Amino acid sequence: MRAIEFSSNGGPEVLELVEVPEPTAGPGQAVVHIDSAGLNFIDTYHRSGLYDVTLPMRPGVEGSGIVAAIGDDVTEVAVGDRVAWAGPGGSYAEQAAVSADQLVRVPDAVSLDAAAAVMLQGMTAHYLALDTHPLAPGDKCLIHAGAGGVGLLLTQIAKLQGAEVFTTVGSAAKVELSRAAGSDHVINYNEQNFADVVAEVGGPNSLAVVYDGVGASVFDDSLSLLRKRGVMATFGNASGPVPPVSPLALSAGGSLFLTRPTLFDYIATRPELLKRAADLFGWMATDKLDVTISHRIPLAEAAEAHQMLEGRLTHGKVLLQP
Ligand code: NDP
Repeated sequence: MRAIEFSSNGGPEVLELVEVPEPTAGPGQAVVHIDSAGLNFIDTYHRSGLYDVTLPMRPGVEGSGIVAAIGDDVTEVAVGDRVAWAGPGGSYAEQAAVSADQLVRVPDAVSLDAAAAVMLQGMTAHYLALDTHPLAPGDKCLIHAGAGGVGLLLTQIAKLQGAEVFTTVGSAAKVELSRAAGSDHVINYNEQNFADVVAEVGGPNSLAVVYDGVGASVFDDSLSLLRKRGVMATFGNASGPVPPVSPLALSAGGSLFLTRPTLFDYIATRPELLKRAADLFGWMATDKLDVTISHRIPLAEAAEAHQMLEGRLTHGKVLLQP
């Protein structure tokens, strides 16, 4: 079968299309024929070396497809099931052997490509809005990269929770996309100082929470916008990792909370994984959550897909399809 792998860290050019043996289902595993592999920013951190990985690596931490075989002791899924997952690696391929306890069944009302599009970014948006800081009606929140994969989903979930949403985006086209997702105040941070706009519109120190997947370029200004005991949820590094922070900065800002959450700690148990996926699929099936897939790209063109993601040329979800 065909797969994408890299044997050294570097730019998108290290991604290679290779021919590899088909996987077999070991104990507790299912082999999935992949319909769609989700592209995520974390794939670029694995490729570049920002996050440590063992080389050679087959990237991709999200996918959907049909179960083709199961190993011993598998009870969660059966051959022929439509399934999706986030976490286990190696989805940039035609098939993957995945731990069955990390697979969720996809209901008939949800397409396989839409399922692949929400497993990682959607469950991230879910835990950020419902658990990291459970948004209450009237809470003001700021979501950076509001037209991105996480951003469009988090904006919609924040509105479902009754929050007032500020978003930042990097282009005029993305302003429209973020507004259509329900953002109350969209700021093009390449044209305006986002902190000035939030303080002017929302009032000084008005935010209950900042959800920041952009990192280095926005962190300090974001911290300055929080209300007393507000929450800074820094969950990504699209512009680079946030430098070390002094605890005194949190005190000076008003007894602030700083957290650096990661999805895999919020789907650490199977009931939690199933609950988050069921909420997302339920919202999708009842038209409460719109999933935007900006690009469906052939698996062989994974390097071009990484270039587009890092070049800020995508919005919503990008899928790789074998
Ligand atoms: P996005 O689709 O949001 O793409 C990243 C966006 O970040 C870009 O489109 C761009 O939007 C913005 N951006 C700002 N500065 C830069 C820069 N210097 N270079 C590139 N992009 C920049 O990606 P994802 O939805 O996949 O992920 C968003 C963030 O969330 C990432 O940091 C990712 O690592 C993180 N994440 C964290 C998880 C967790 O559990 N901790 C799970 C999932 C994602 P614009 O042009 O509008 O500025």
